Amino acid sequence: GPRPLVAGNWKMHGLTASLAEIEAIGAGYAALGASVELVVCPPATLLAAAAAIAARFNLGIGGQDCDAQASGAHTGDLSAEMLADAGASYVIVGHSERRAEHGESDALVRAKASAALRAGLTPIVCVGETRAERDAGRAIEIVERQLAGSLPAPIAAERLVVAYEPIWAIGTGLTPTTNDVTSMHAAIRARLDALVGASAPTRILYGGSVKPSNARELLHAPHVDGALVGGASLTAKDFLAIAEAA
Ligand code: 13P
Repeated sequence: GPRPLVAGNWKMHGLTASLAEIEAIGAGYAALGASVELVVCPPATLLAAAAAIAARFNLGIGGQDCDAQASGAHTGDLSAEMLADAGASYVIVGHSERRAEHGESDALVRAKASAALRAGLTPIVCVGETRAERDAGRAIEIVERQLAGSLPAPIAAERLVVAYEPIWAIGTGLTPTTNDVTSMHAAIRARLDALVGASAPTRILYGGSVKPSNARELLHAPHVDGALVGGASLTAKDFLAIAEAA
């Protein structure tokens, strides 16, 4: 399969002092070798400083969200072009926290993913079901619907990452069974094959309570091409242990 990608989503965590953690992640990554691609998505306030450090180690940097427009009267928002200018090469779009807390629709997520491609960034498009949807046996159907609405148009398969993050597994310590992760990732892979062709290099990440102790099993499940890590990406020690398990 493709080279695994392990991306850390710092969410709304990190002050200037946390740049030391970026440095530690970079130094540890350099020692790990290049068998895994490593990316950190710090808050936007740290992007440029983090990117300057990360460049010394070949560590990737990503944003956590972007506006769909390139510029304009959108107070408080950041364009994909601005993230690229600050040194990002990735951007997370459609995270469930954005979908829930900011009312982001599939259509808006698609516009943001398309904006990321326009700006030369690789979008990490997040999808995932609620606990109730999984209990009702509708997880795959829900995720397929989110994919149908949220993937960028047109798709650039070589610059696209999909992250499957079951909402009930985020920050809870709960994870789906390896079989459930595999079936979901197989369904996403089939959908991507249908949309962009069977040799599409699009990586499919698993996210939700990934930690050093479960990383090996989750990351080596069939059709899993890496991980999107929240809490455990905040310390170099845990994040590097996950990268090492990939
Ligand atoms: P946790 O790893 O903290 O569960 O967060 C997952 C996530 O939302 C990454 O985007």
